[in-house]
Amino acid sequence: RVELRGVVKQYGDQRVLNGVSLTVEPGEVVTILGPSGSGKSTLIRLINRLESLSGGEIFIDDRPVGQLQGASLRQLRSRIGFVFQQFNLYAHLTARQNITLALEHVHGRQKAQAHQRAQALLEQVGLADKAEALPSQLSGGQQQRVAIARALASSPQIILFDEPTSALDPETIGEVLQVMKSLAHSGITMIVVTHEMHFAREIADRVVFIDGGDILETGRPEDFFTRPQHPRTQRFLQKVL
Ligand code: ATP
Ligand code: MG
Repeated sequence: RVELRGVVKQYGDQRVLNGVSLTVEPGEVVTILGPSGSGKSTLIRLINRLESLSGGEIFIDDRPVGQLQGASLRQLRSRIGFVFQQFNLYAHLTARQNITLALEHVHGRQKAQAHQRAQALLEQVGLADKAEALPSQLSGGQQQRVAIARALASSPQIILFDEPTSALDPETIGEVLQVMKSLAHSGITMIVVTHEMHFAREIADRVVFIDGGDILETGRPEDFFTRPQHPRTQRFLQKVL
């Protein structure tokens, strides 16, 4: 369970999040929508502490994470997968090595065991035959699926996605969304920043709309997309749908 209470983020004197509160239940799939610069990336980067809080608190399973450091921060991160827009794979490592690296070095797994786990994860994302390929030998969609497999390596309870398909060619977006869709049904908690409205509508249990550092509206997708309440949400949806 992820709970944000009055979360404030400030860069210098610019306030990027104004006191955001949001609870995501175990197994829930929440998509975060909003215009560019509204604070979406900042919000999810705070959850696994890629950014530090300026105010408020974030609780994971009722434990505050705002002040975690060192080993307990690493432990938090191993329970939370993160998938970036730009994949962030190591260019000189194969698909499999990108996955085994963290398993061996962070989680102390034996080589053979890490190898086996990586192979199973690559299979799960439909890339069993690409284990020995370097990122440069893979399409964008394939690289992103490797990144998803890597994020799943430590069996996280929660996985965060920051615009996972925004850097992809249109023809490879579908394969990534397909993998995410199957994940959504697997019971893992997912928080997804996305501009893919159809995807949000199809897989989200709940949609959150954020603008100017505030959550303006949250609702079930069937309500959110057909009967948005806030005028700002209405205008946003008119533009993007
Ligand atoms: P996009 O849809 O374009 O990715 P976003 O909703 O993810 O936008 P954020 O990246 O969270 O927006 O940024 C929110 C605001 O915070 C922006 O005004 C941005 O310029 C500012 N900001 C983000 N990161 C930093 C930083 N490291 N230092 C200073 N300002 C930042
Ligand atoms: Mg962003």
